Amino acid sequence: MKNITCFCVLILFLGIYSCSVHEYKGDRPKYVFFLIGDGMGSSQVTGTQFYLTERAGRIGLDSLSFTGFPVTNVVSTYSAFNAITCSAAAGTALATGMRTSNGTIGKDAIHSKDVYSIAVKAKERGMGVGIATSVSIDHATPASFYAHQPSRSMYYEIAMDAIKADFDLYAGSGFLQTRSLTDSAAPEVYCCFEEAGYTVVRGYDDFNRKREGASKMVFVQEAGANPFSLSYAIDRQPGDLTLSEITRGAIDYLFQKSNRGFFLMVEGGKIDWACHSNDGATMVKEVMDFSDAVEVVLEFYRQHPKETLIIVTADHETGGVGLGTRGYELNLKLLSLQQHSLDILSNRLINLRENREGKVTWEEVKEVFSEELGFWSKIEIMKEEEEALKQEFERSYLQASPAVWGMYAVVEPLAQQAVRLLNDKAQMGWTTLEHTGTRVPMYAIGAGAWRFAGSPLNNTDIPRIIVEATGWN
Ligand SMILES: [Zn+2]
Repeated sequence: MKNITCFCVLILFLGIYSCSVHEYKGDRPKYVFFLIGDGMGSSQVTGTQFYLTERAGRIGLDSLSFTGFPVTNVVSTYSAFNAITCSAAAGTALATGMRTSNGTIGKDAIHSKDVYSIAVKAKERGMGVGIATSVSIDHATPASFYAHQPSRSMYYEIAMDAIKADFDLYAGSGFLQTRSLTDSAAPEVYCCFEEAGYTVVRGYDDFNRKREGASKMVFVQEAGANPFSLSYAIDRQPGDLTLSEITRGAIDYLFQKSNRGFFLMVEGGKIDWACHSNDGATMVKEVMDFSDAVEVVLEFYRQHPKETLIIVTADHETGGVGLGTRGYELNLKLLSLQQHSLDILSNRLINLRENREGKVTWEEVKEVFSEELGFWSKIEIMKEEEEALKQEFERSYLQASPAVWGMYAVVEPLAQQAVRLLNDKAQMGWTTLEHTGTRVPMYAIGAGAWRFAGSPLNNTDIPRIIVEATGWN
């Protein structure tokens, strides 16, 4: 009797063990989410966590939606010929598993032959495919999943490639070039999508009204909105389309449409833009916004845990963010005093100068900095700090020196210097206005996530492992 009991316990144990091993390795995921924070290095993530914790009056790292995922790793980002990648080469590596030269979309570095993404593989297997971003649909990261062009700036040709790829859903702020620059007779982009059977919707309400009858969709902002990108989270106005809304809409649409499963890429594209401006407060709010979009995906995951794989990573780091500039303190909570992005602050100063026909006083500018950054009213500004700002006011602002083009916006040098001062007081440092070559973090959860654990990864490994996990070869 005792032997029989032992035997039964053994069988039960083996059953549980084999079941747990089976569950650990997971079945092939039916729903694959690939979320890319453009420019989101480790310091962008950790800095946002420190910021949230400091605001709660503690020291430590409060969680973002993805930082507690069971599998984490680090990923190299260099491109075929450069230690520091651009988003086109990085996007191509993450989408296709092929390193290419900076500026190239969906082509190999040596022979310039087209290389195809995991999204194409998913489509070939009859799955739904969605591409979603907070910037324009033809921008480098989303384009890498469907386009093949020698230059990331060939926006019209990239949009035409989206039609050829024939994915189910493209969502983002809009398209940058709706007309060909080289052929005036070439048709307009949105007309081409409609002719190819796409339903074009503008805004979240329009999307929800039309999604049921639509066989393929282009989902952009309402007419008149800036096609370059969605608003920064820090600048958002009621009614502005958000990355979370786009993500929720994409999931609802693809789930309803594709009973064989789907692949959805979601890019938080403006973390990179904020970092190109070395604008810490705006960057932190973008990382939080990206985390909110991941939370929307997690809601789906909790309903389909055994069939869903989620990967969160970045294409590269931007700005060389440093946490700590002197001593052993951070004061990141000061970033919460900033009311708008550097872009909006620049515009406010430019408008002030125009309205006052150049006769702006230093006291008026101080008023702007007090409202927008909390200077003097909420943070002490030392005499020499004010003196440095005033010198810039006299050197560039009063002279109406042309505002410089940052990577993605007009930047007034005086506004830039003021934002730099706030970052410096928060002890957040920056080393560059461009990208850096540092490894980026990666987080995975769900069916097949274990495959991403272990040795550090190359960016080209990620699509290869997705194919292993899904069996899309
Ligand atoms: Zn960039």
